[in-house]
Amino acid sequence: MAKLNILEHPDPRLREPSAPVETFDQALRTLLDDMIETLRATSAIGLAAPQVDVRRRIVVCRTDPAREPRVFINPEITGSSRPAYIEEQCLSVPGEKGLVMRPTRVSVRAHDAEGVRFHDKLEDLDAVCLHHEVDHLDGTLFIDRFSLWQRLGRTAGRLLGRRPAPSP
Ligand SMILES: [Zn+2]
Repeated sequence: MAKLNILEHPDPRLREPSAPVETFDQALRTLLDDMIETLRATSAIGLAAPQVDVRRRIVVCRTDPAREPRVFINPEITGSSRPAYIEEQCLSVPGEKGLVMRPTRVSVRAHDAEGVRFHDKLEDLDAVCLHHEVDHLDGTLFIDRFSLWQRLGRTAGRLLGRRPAPSP
């Protein structure tokens, strides 16, 4: 297993959409092992393949360190609750923190590491994590979901030559 390098904003590779996984082979399993090791080495709860420079629709979530990380391949969110404001951070946007709207319940359809299709319903942090990571597969970062007010705050902070502290 190997720890992978994490791409950081504004790297344009983070903005490219990812392609579905079609082959469930040893190379995929090695990538999953490496993604899990990379995630475990951080305080983050999720990692998407494009963050480690692989444009494939692969997500790993670890919302509870006591449980094994969950793998979602080709995840599709098929239903979601009304969104709520959640405070987020992202390994690919270091130093940035802010409130974004996320559903706190989602239905998901995906493949597991062996290529078997499954459905599941996720709640709370699991739902928020999956939604954030699926955004990465489409080239979206959480800062794109900031409100106009937060964007203005960030711009003002940059003009003043300091990092802004985002607030609601
Ligand atoms: Zn992220």
